[in-house]
Amino acid sequence: MQHSLSHLSVPQTLPLLFRHRKKQRIAVPHVYSDDQPVYRRQKRLICKTCSCHITSAEHRTVIDQSHRHTFFNPSGAVFEIGCFRQAYSCNPVGRPSSEFSWFASMVWTPVVCSECLSHLGWVFEGNSRRFYGLILKQLVEVEGQE
Ligand SMILES: [Zn+2]
Repeated sequence: MQHSLSHLSVPQTLPLLFRHRKKQRIAVPHVYSDDQPVYRRQKRLICKTCSCHITSAEHRTVIDQSHRHTFFNPSGAVFEIGCFRQAYSCNPVGRPSSEFSWFASMVWTPVVCSECLSHLGWVFEGNSRRFYGLILKQLVEVEGQE
């Protein structure tokens, strides 16, 4: 009797273990799909003037210990910029310059909205890096998918 019980308990325990492991493996994607898929929740930043998609919250990056920076240009104009790894609908204008660069050893090129040509900020390049410094008041943050 005892022999047959222990014999039975083996196949009963094994499927339970497998089921448990399988559940754990799919637990990670389940966290994200609880509400909505991640991409639907991403905030987009659109051009204040023409509403075209410029970048997304997920592209925010930290440069010199901060995402946001406030700078003066040589004419005394103040710009509050946010740093982004990626931007769309952003066209560089002119050639890169190193004059009065706000980031050490980086050159900058002004970027404008490809739709309405509003000045949106600058693309900075150097030290094997490239990022956009976008003027935050030129952008509007909206919810929703692309
Ligand atoms: Zn625009």
